[in-house]
Amino acid sequence: MNDSFKHKGLRKKLIQTIKSKGINNKNVLSAISKVPRHLFMDSGFIDHAYQDKPFPIGANQTISQPFTVAFQTELLEVNKGDKVLEVGTGSGYQAAVLCELGANVFSIERQGELYKKVVNFLPSINYYPKKIIYGDGYKGLEEEAPFDSIIVTAGAPFVPKALLNQLKIGGRLVIPVGENIQVMTLYIRVSEKKFNMKEYGEFQFVPLLKEKE
Ligand code: SAM
Repeated sequence: MNDSFKHKGLRKKLIQTIKSKGINNKNVLSAISKVPRHLFMDSGFIDHAYQDKPFPIGANQTISQPFTVAFQTELLEVNKGDKVLEVGTGSGYQAAVLCELGANVFSIERQGELYKKVVNFLPSINYYPKKIIYGDGYKGLEEEAPFDSIIVTAGAPFVPKALLNQLKIGGRLVIPVGENIQVMTLYIRVSEKKFNMKEYGEFQFVPLLKEKE
């Protein structure tokens, strides 16, 4: 794996940037400081890998901005050994951050091209999610539920019921909700039927592609 001192230095600067934007969780900052983001990007963008920006990854999709990854991950409150479901594997970067936090990661991707790439790529740089699934994130992953937390990394026009139903009691769903602009939203399942909801400001994501019939 080509991860040089130069890349490590650039990652330190990136950490300072996301700290200055309000990310405080030491475990999240440490996880982000370890993941070689430049390896998740197409060669044409490698020089920009440690800017706090999203970049194209093919199939009209993006690797999210590091601040956004940190923000969502902080809201998840991941503990070692947690069972975490990600909707929208994309480049695999967010999944790698979750692996660094010691989570058992399940991730769903709906674009075949990205799925095929990421399924081989992550183990090649020593990240081992429990499962990467080619499928429809609106449905969640019933056979592995319940989850300690679920993160959606694309803009959802509404909150899929299946995702709420697949949370443990006490489990957390972090989901950007909205059509053009999304509001980052946290749901905590406080009992079988009751969820607390809190909103955390506006973000802009690529859309969560329509449900498959
Ligand atoms: N988490 C990714 C990363 O770390 O690179 C970035 C995700 S990108 C902003 C959103 C991803 O969600 C894309 O890869 C897209 O193909 C995927 N996606 C969109 N709709 C989906 C759906 N219905 N089910 C699963 N994945 C979906």
